[in-house]
Amino acid sequence: MDSLFFVLSFFAFVWGSIWGSFATVLLYRIPRKISIFSPSRSFCPSCGNSIPARYNIPIFGFLILKGKCFFCKSSIPIYYFLIELLSGILGFISLEFSHFSLLRFLLIFFFFWSLLVASFFDFIFLAVPDILILLSTAVSILYMLVYGSVRDSIGGVLVGAGIFSILKLLYKIIRKKEGLGEGDVFFMIPVGIFSGFFGTIIIMIFSSFLGSVFFIVRRIFSKDIGISHPIPFIPFIFISCFSVFLIESRYSYIFEEFFLFRL
Ligand SMILES: [Zn+2]
Repeated sequence: MDSLFFVLSFFAFVWGSIWGSFATVLLYRIPRKISIFSPSRSFCPSCGNSIPARYNIPIFGFLILKGKCFFCKSSIPIYYFLIELLSGILGFISLEFSHFSLLRFLLIFFFFWSLLVASFFDFIFLAVPDILILLSTAVSILYMLVYGSVRDSIGGVLVGAGIFSILKLLYKIIRKKEGLGEGDVFFMIPVGIFSGFFGTIIIMIFSSFLGSVFFIVRRIFSKDIGISHPIPFIPFIFISCFSVFLIESRYSYIFEEFFLFRL
């Protein structure tokens, strides 16, 4: 059993890192409006040369080349490596919580993978492609239908997307400009469906706390960034949602304590 789990873990990690590699393709091509499917081979953003197959291995390709292009030696952004590594770890953790069900593994993986990739988009470009919102919403609905409760999910969406919409509207009326991004509100729909009523409340409190800490730290260390400069909020939603998922899966009795709050 142990050796089987070890082999499965290895494949889950490789599976995740391959999707991480695909995420770097999305991160490079979507903002530049280049087709995702052609050219099919990865190419260097600086010199345009196709990356040789032996260096196109997720995580290791970056390490072997020491973060530099094989041809022109220009630096490959560190997030290429990070997203491949984190997607690999996500594959491993999804297996851990899948109860050895392939469907459960795929749903957990793709839900958090779309949130992870959206976090990188938000952090780098302060914008998220619709396709990731659609993917995570579709996956969260499937997850709800198979493993969750429709009433609990509706509660999650109402409290998550509802409160964020009201905050966004209030901010717009008071400050006469946008506070929360469109993507932040839209992402609370799949997060609400996946996490349910009580989970979503915790996610909102925790992500707002993380966002505030980020805001204060950024104010201290980079004074040239204005006070009204937008905060990439999806990374904090992702971290909070993932933490709630891990805690709820491991220590479900904590959540049962708050059963009264559940719909
Ligand atoms: Zn190059």
